[in-house]
Amino acid sequence: MIKENLAAIHERIKKAAAKSGRRIDDITLIAVSKRKSVELIKEAIAAGQLDFGENYLQEAKDKITTLAGQARFHFIGSLQSNKAKDAATLCDMIHTVDRLKLARELDKHARAANRTLAVLIQVNVGREEQKGGVSPEDAEGLIKQMQDLSHLEICGLMTMPPYKENQEEMRPYFAELRQLGEQLQKKGLIATKGPLHLSMGMSGDFEAAIAEGATLIRVGTAIFGER
Ligand SMILES: *Cc1c(COP(=O)(O)O)cnc(C)c1O
Repeated sequence: MIKENLAAIHERIKKAAAKSGRRIDDITLIAVSKRKSVELIKEAIAAGQLDFGENYLQEAKDKITTLAGQARFHFIGSLQSNKAKDAATLCDMIHTVDRLKLARELDKHARAANRTLAVLIQVNVGREEQKGGVSPEDAEGLIKQMQDLSHLEICGLMTMPPYKENQEEMRPYFAELRQLGEQLQKKGLIATKGPLHLSMGMSGDFEAAIAEGATLIRVGTAIFGER
């Protein structure tokens, strides 16, 4: 089942990439495995899936420990500063950095662990009160304040836009994230060592996100079923 679902997603990615003239190699599928068992993750790994996304740190910690070295883990949930140590030592990339205090904690623990931690800045492009993320207006200020955090590598931006029935209506939000990312990269503030990463698009809207430049798509339900 998971194997077939993954194959179907790769087919959708291929079509979306072709439609917008993009290379599939520039798009990474992150299988969002929150509240799904290690057994299911192993099934996905057996089907060739490498990258996984987790939202809850305790759950992620158990899975990462069990699956050490067999997969890459992205932290995509909201992160409290007091959990920064586990996040900084266990995860391959943190997608949800949206405030200086959290960034400083992650940097401190990455330094202590003698590693450079890949992070994305979460931007609240829909300006929704209940959602995490720095507002588009404040993103540059936050990122400037992060420049001296030498153990963080700011690889790009992430967003979770407002839900729309029709995914075409989400394109303006995805486009806004891309434009912001390109501006910040041009100013030498993010993605200075590698390509600009844009983490956007989920089960119901990743085609629209790919059309607007997504490099990391986060797909849960379409792979593992309803949660
Ligand atoms: C759960 C989650 C996803 C996956 O959503 P699906 O609709 O199940 O594909 C993607 N991104 C984030 C941040 C999530 O919390």
